[in-house]
Amino acid sequence: MQLNAALQTATERLTESDSAALDAEVLLCLVLQKQRSYLRAWPDLELPTDLALQYWALIKQRQQGMPVAYLTGYREFWSRDFQVTPDVLIPRADTELLIELCLALIPTDKPCKIIDLGTGSGIIAITLAAERPLAALTGTDLSLSALAIAKMNAEQHQIPNIQFYQSDWFAKVSDDDFHIIVSNPPYIAEDDEHLNLGDLRFEPRSALSAAESGLRDISMIIHAAYPRLISGGYLLIEHGYDQQQQVQTLFKECHYQHVQTVNDLAGLPRVTYGQRPTTPN
Ligand code: GLN
Repeated sequence: MQLNAALQTATERLTESDSAALDAEVLLCLVLQKQRSYLRAWPDLELPTDLALQYWALIKQRQQGMPVAYLTGYREFWSRDFQVTPDVLIPRADTELLIELCLALIPTDKPCKIIDLGTGSGIIAITLAAERPLAALTGTDLSLSALAIAKMNAEQHQIPNIQFYQSDWFAKVSDDDFHIIVSNPPYIAEDDEHLNLGDLRFEPRSALSAAESGLRDISMIIHAAYPRLISGGYLLIEHGYDQQQQVQTLFKECHYQHVQTVNDLAGLPRVTYGQRPTTPN
């Protein structure tokens, strides 16, 4: 079978994917170990039988819903490739908003202490460490298998200014002088039907959903972060599109100031942040 015929057949089989043609190409590139431009350059090339077998096995897994990122083993975030396995959440473009907001707050010319809670594959901590070499980053997670992935990603990108350790949110965090505390915690309500759709079915449930309509961990972090920030330090949290009101209320109840919510690429409220007052409160 020629490459273009294989692509067409695969695309037709991936009826439930909303990116069928792209998925078919990405998986063919994985099998061929080539870039996508290769498929354009050599559409008539014969796909060798052994590779064809591998390809149809991958297409079958994708038909069953397995996310492409778990099949290829990586996903791009902030122009870097990150290793991912079913032990970690797949990086989302929306999370780049957290990065943008953090980068605007981190000085480029002096040291600064930052912690990323529930680091998962490490995308937030590693990206911030790479973009701000003077900053000292810490990434924590409850999951040891997630931490192993995060450490591999930090090594892969040769990031020196980062450390990772296991902690249930702040349980093992003894420092109280962070300039920035950032987190993309689980925030989906446990009975939300989206958990039974698409990629979410295959991602770690503990990274996705939380009790109390998805607000349990967010609330925990907002309360516990305040005394661990320097005065004038910031807490930034990613949350669900319908949680802006409750999250803002939690920030304000805990006496953060300048509390703001910023919309994601789809125009939905996605990140709320606030500052520990610079004057005693
Ligand atoms: N911090 C990681 C991310 O942003 C993992 C988040 C999570 O597992 N809830 O993708």
